[in-house]
Amino acid sequence: MLTNEYVKRVYDQVQKRDGDQPEFLQAVYEVLDTLQPVIAKHPEYEANGVLERLVEPERVVKFRVAWVDDAGKVQVNRGYRVQFNSAIGPYKGGLRFHPTVNEGVIKFLGFEQILKNSLTTLPMGGGKGGSDFDPKGKSDAEVMRFCQAFMTELSRHIGQFTDVPAGDINVGAREIGYLFGQYKRIRDEYSGVLTGKGLEFGGSLARTEATGYGLCYYTAEALRVLKNDSFEGKTVVISGSGNVAIFATEKAQELGAKVVTASDSNGYVYDPDGIKLDIVKDIKLGHRGRIKEYAERVPGAEYHEGCAGVWTVPCDIALPCATQNEIDEASAEALVKNGCKVVCEGANMPSTPEAIAVYQKNGLLYGPAKAANAGGVAVSGLEMSQNSYRLSWTFEETDAKLKSIMESIVAESLAAAKEYGEEGDLMAGANIAGFVKVANAMVAQGIL
Ligand code: NDP
Repeated sequence: MLTNEYVKRVYDQVQKRDGDQPEFLQAVYEVLDTLQPVIAKHPEYEANGVLERLVEPERVVKFRVAWVDDAGKVQVNRGYRVQFNSAIGPYKGGLRFHPTVNEGVIKFLGFEQILKNSLTTLPMGGGKGGSDFDPKGKSDAEVMRFCQAFMTELSRHIGQFTDVPAGDINVGAREIGYLFGQYKRIRDEYSGVLTGKGLEFGGSLARTEATGYGLCYYTAEALRVLKNDSFEGKTVVISGSGNVAIFATEKAQELGAKVVTASDSNGYVYDPDGIKLDIVKDIKLGHRGRIKEYAERVPGAEYHEGCAGVWTVPCDIALPCATQNEIDEASAEALVKNGCKVVCEGANMPSTPEAIAVYQKNGLLYGPAKAANAGGVAVSGLEMSQNSYRLSWTFEETDAKLKSIMESIVAESLAAAKEYGEEGDLMAGANIAGFVKVANAMVAQGIL
C-alpha cells in the first residue's frame, strides 16, 4: 500500500495522466510500493524530482508503418519506440510485434527495462518498442517488407550510442536480420545498432539462449541461497513455446529437472514423461507450427485447449515464459494447491498483483521478471561490447559471464532487501537495487 506522501503524489499524477494504460499503471504501482523505504531514507530523491522524472519517458515516438501485402493491398500498422531513461547508458530494450501492442504496453515494458538493465550492472538505459503488426500467417516476404517499412522510420531515432533495440515477442533472428539490413542500407553504416543479430553479422553466441538459460541460473541460485535446494529431481511447469520457454526448458532439463508442459496462445501440452525438446524445436523453430502438434507426435502426451490451464498441472517450480498477466489469482491458487513452491518469471510481468499476493501469503520463492529474465538484455549488453571491440567471445565465455551476472543479481537483490528491512524479498530487492543506481545517476546529472 502506498503510504509515503511523495510516492502517493507521484502515483496519483501517473493515474491522472495515464489512467488509460492499465499495464503501465500496474508496473509503476508495484515499483513505487516497494521503493517507499528508500524514498523515506533519501530526501534528495524528492528534492531532485527523481520519481516524477522516472515515471515519465524521455521521449515517445509513435509512427505510421505502411507496407504492401502479397495481394498488393496497402496495410497500415502503428509503430512505437519509447525512450524511457538514459541515465546509465543508451536506451536499450526489445521490439515486440503483436496485435496487443499499444502505447501503454510498450511503456510498461520500457519502465521495467530501466530497472532490469540497471540490475545487470552493464551501462544500459531503458527503452522498448514495437508494433501492432501480427506476423502470424504472414509470408517471409511480407514480414520483410513490414520490417523494412518499420525501420525506415525507426532509423531516425536509434543508433549504437543512442538507442539499441533487440527482439521480444515475435521478433527473432529473421526479423532482426531484416531490420538490421534496412538500417545499414538507409544509414550507410555497419554498426551494432541492434542486438540479437545473426552470428555472421555481429551477433553474440549464447544470445538466443540467454533469457531462458539466465532464468534457470537465477532460479538455481535463489534456490541454493534461500532454500539450500536445486532443480535436481523437480517437476517444472513452463508456459510458452517461444524463445524464452524453449531455452528455459533446455537448461532446466540440463540441471536435472523434469519439464512437463509447453504452451502457446491456443492451448498447452502435458507430457508426464518430460517434454521432448527436439520435437518442440522442430515444431516452433522448424516450421512455426502450433504446440498442439506435439501431442499428435508424442504418445502419452495430452493437448488441452486454453493456455491458462497450464497452471493447474502439479509442479514444484513454475516458470511463466509467455506474456504479461498470464497468472491471475485463481491460477496462482491452483499452483499453490498443487504443491508449487517456486515461481520465477521468464516473461515480463506475467503475474497479476493478486497472484503475487498469493505467492507472498503462502511463502513461495518468487523471482520477479525484471531480475529473473535479465539474462537476455545482459547478453545483449555483452553483444554491444563485442561489437565495440570488433571481436567475438566463445559460447562458453559468454555463457559463463551470463551465469555470473544472474548470480550477482540474486546477491544484489538480497543485499538491497536486507538493507531496507525486507530480508529475503527478491521483488523488493530487485526494485530497490535497480532503482538506486539510476536515481543516483539522475541526481548527479542534474534536472533533465
Ligand atoms: P516468442 O515470440 O518467441 O514466444 C512467445 C510465446 O508466448 C509463444 O509461445 C506465444 O504463443 C506465447 N504468447 C504470446 N502472447 C500470448 C498471449 N497473449 N497469451 C498466451 N500466450 C502467448 O517471445 P519470447 O519467448 O521472446 O518472449 C516471451 C516473454 O519473455 C515475453 O513476455 C517477453 O517480453 C519476455 N522476454 C523476452 C526476452 C527475449 O530475450 N526474447 C527477454 C526478456 C523477457 P503464440 O505463438 O500462440 O503467440
